[in-house]
This record gives sequence, C-alpha cells and structure tokens, in this order.
Amino acid sequence: MHLERRVLVTGGAGFLGSHLCERLLKTGNQVLCVDNFFTGTRRNIEHLLDHKHFELLRHDITHPLYVEVDEIYNLACPASPVHYQRDPVQTTKTSVIGAINALGLAKRLGAKVFQASTSEIYGDPTVHPQPEEYWGNVNSIGPRSCYDEGKRCAETLFFDYWRQHRLRIKVARIFNTYGPRTHPNDGRVVSSFIVQALLNQNITIFGEGQQTRSFCYVDDLIEGFIRLMDSPSDVTGPVNLGNPGEFTIRELADIVIELTGSRSKIVYRPLPQDDPKQRRPNISKAQELLNWQPTIQLREGLQKTIPYFERLILDGQISKAVFN
Ligand code: NAD
Ligand code: UDP
Repeated sequence: MHLERRVLVTGGAGFLGSHLCERLLKTGNQVLCVDNFFTGTRRNIEHLLDHKHFELLRHDITHPLYVEVDEIYNLACPASPVHYQRDPVQTTKTSVIGAINALGLAKRLGAKVFQASTSEIYGDPTVHPQPEEYWGNVNSIGPRSCYDEGKRCAETLFFDYWRQHRLRIKVARIFNTYGPRTHPNDGRVVSSFIVQALLNQNITIFGEGQQTRSFCYVDDLIEGFIRLMDSPSDVTGPVNLGNPGEFTIRELADIVIELTGSRSKIVYRPLPQDDPKQRRPNISKAQELLNWQPTIQLREGLQKTIPYFERLILDGQISKAVFN
C-alpha cells in the first residue's frame, strides 16, 4: 500500500484519539500516537500496537516535541468535567502550552494542524442552537474555566498562527460525543448512565434533568474530522461537529434504562456549578463546507455502545464499588 502521510495524533490513547488512529491506519497512513495516559489507556490502542505503521510515544504535550510528520491532530486534553477539574492548572497548561507546542511543531514542518476544540467555547449559551458566529457566555473564574478558557485561548493561538505565519489550520468545535472506549469512570453522562444501568445501580441525574445535550456517535465525528482535515486550505473552521438531535438528561436516562432492560432507579443529585442549561449545534457550516452530517441517531448509537461496557463488566474491568 502506498503510504501517503505521516500523521501525529496527540491524545491518541484517549477515547476519540484511539478511534482516529484506527481510522487513519485503515486508510493507509503512518500514525504516531502521543499520550501521557492521564485519561487515556493502553487498552484503547492495544489492538494497534502490532500494526507496522503505528508508533506509540509516551509524552506530555506541555513539553516540546521534535518529530517529523505531515499532519497533526491535537486532541490531548482531558474532556470530562470530572477529569479536567481534577488538576485544573494542568488542564489549562495542556490546552494552552500544548497548543503552542503543536503549532510550533507545525510551523517548523509546514504541517497541517487540527485542533479538537469544543462546544464549551459557548459556555452556558444564550443563543440556541449554537452557530459558529456566537461568541459564547463563559465564566472566566469558575470550575469549568480551566477547560473553557484554555480551549478558547487555544483557538486564539490557532488563528494567530494562521494570520501571522500562514499556517494551515483546521479547528473543529466538538459537541458531546459518545461510544465504545469512553473511560468507564470518567463521569461523562452517557458512559456513567450505561454503566449504572448495567450494574442495576442508581442512575444519578444532576439537577432536575431538564438540561439538554446533543449526542454524537463517535464514528460520525471521526468522519467529520477527516473531512475537515482534507478540506480545501481556505477552510480553517471553526466548524461545529455534533449531532443536532437534542435530548434532556432525563430523556437520556429513560432511553438507557429501556435499552439495557435495567432495574435501576433514577436519583437526583445537586447540579454542578455552571453546568450549561442547553446545548445543540447548528451544523449548517459542516453540511455546506464538508458535506457532512451525522448518520447514527441516539438509540442506534447507544445500541452499539452498550455491548462495549457489558464486555468491560464481564472482564472485571469495572469495579462495582466505584459506582455505589
Ligand atoms: P479523553 O480524555 O478520552 O482523551 C484525551 C487524551 O489526551 C487522553 O488519552 C489523555 O491521556 C491525553 N492527554 C491529556 N493531557 C495530556 C498531555 N498533557 N499530554 C499528552 N496527552 C495528554 O477525551 P476525548 O473525549 O477523547 O477528547 C479528545 C479531545 O476532544 C480533547 O481535546 C477534548 O477536549 C475534545 N472534545 C471531546 C468531546 C467529547 O465529547 N468526547 C467534546 C468536545 C471536545
Ligand atoms: N450528568 C448527570 N449525571 C451524571 C453525569 C452527568 O446528570 O452522572 C449531567 C451533567 O450535569 C450535564 C450533562 O449530564 O448536565 C452532561 O454532562 P457531561 O459530564 O457528560 O458533559 P458536559 O456536556 O457537561 O461537558
């Protein structure tokens, strides 16, 4: 097979990164996966380790990296509120210094560089659904700020490198995405509800469950990544990537209980500070510029995801105590 590109994926052992590495290898690229295993695991990429075009490097992207590649996907950063709030200073460093290092590397190599930005850029949005033109409603000093402001600053850096150094940049604003290989303990809502349901434990809804999210299945998202990276050079983004199907958290809990046939009860817990009340992407730009839109709706995506967590439980990879 003709190998076209050497591609660096930072955060490649994480949930999204591992799916991206897999996809890039399937389409004949050489992949260099860089990760410090803060939230990622070897298990996510175990099946790729023997692939002759896959290389794994344990490295923290807050330190400069000297490698030779043609393209860079910068995904390194914890994405779940529980994890990014565990060491908030490190989260900001990973977002900001990590972006500077990825951009510096791209500048030296003349490489194209992709940034995994986020719908958190919009904060607790007052415009609904959120188009890319919306500047957001973000608290700069709250518990989510390390992530939100870190990611906003990373966007600023990407656009300054583009203006100042004519770097080829691709910025995706990712909305809530789920699927196999989400870390079972990372506290994100889809994985948490599925694991709780499979263990017949209480399903913990934060607040009254009336807040909304729009859930994208991982395969759809990765297709969006590739299309954005391969788009003409005048397409810089930011481009929203997500599934516009919008659900309350209570609706999600009911669907998960139904699909798993669980005996779990729903319990209510306090709503975390600054938890966004609503979130739904306007994806017109992605449709128009990338001819992209999600094809897998929530029930179907959950049916593809549930067996992954069933397998983890059977293999003893999830301790019941963690979820009590
Ligand atoms: P994840 O936590 O599973 O993956 C992040 C990966 O980055 C992990 O493997 C982690 O070990 C690694 N990492 C963290 N800090 C690092 C550092 N300093 N140096 C090297 N590696 C480091 O999360 P994910 O869901 O796969 O998210 C990937 C990216 O996509 C993140 O940048 C996240 O902000 C963004 N994103 C994800 C979502 C989503 O719903 N999954 C939504 C919006 C944005
Ligand atoms: N949530 C919940 N129970 C949980 C985990 C999350 O009700 O066990 C809620 C959370 O308060 C938020 C939504 O689900 O309103 C999505 O949370 P998640 O952590 O997945 O991502 P966010 O979109 O907030 O970054």
